[in-house]
Amino acid sequence: MTKPFWETKTLEEMTEQEWEALCDGCGKCCLHKFIDDDSVENAVTTDTIKPEEKVHYTNIVCDLLNTKTCSCTQYMERTRLVPDCVKLTKENLKDIFFMPTSCSYRRLYEGRGLPSWHPLLNAGRKSAMHKKGMSVRGKTVFEHQVDMEHFEDYIALWPLEDLD
Ligand code: SF4
Ligand code: SF4
Repeated sequence: MTKPFWETKTLEEMTEQEWEALCDGCGKCCLHKFIDDDSVENAVTTDTIKPEEKVHYTNIVCDLLNTKTCSCTQYMERTRLVPDCVKLTKENLKDIFFMPTSCSYRRLYEGRGLPSWHPLLNAGRKSAMHKKGMSVRGKTVFEHQVDMEHFEDYIALWPLEDLD
């Protein structure tokens, strides 16, 4: 049997189409994140991170996410509309540690393969992912609903979870 492209190619070798197909559409990268070196009290909002720093995920999600399907409502325009939108590319793979551990790109980058719940292993459907709790569905609040001064009240551990 022919092996699928994600088992035979490196991320750098993938075509644009393959690269796009790899995304599980979990929506975790649309959550607000903060970094600090040791404590939540010192955390600051940022779009860059050093390897020694710690990422704090929150359950605050970008207003442009459809939280039921976990898809971006403005995918083609996302980086223009939301300057902080993280668009992972082959060129910025070194920043992969900024992504959640269950992120397909991070998993492949770290040699962990794709999980059994990934849409590519489930006829393109996201239902297994949602059922396993690996997407953001049902767990978020929109950024317009919260006072970002109190982001620490929204720190969440579930975005750090991975399965398989
Ligand atoms: S613009 Fe779209 S892809 Fe970017 S963070 Fe918002 S919902 Fe996610
Ligand atoms: S975390 Fe990774 S796999 Fe999940 S939606 Fe974002 S880019 Fe795609």
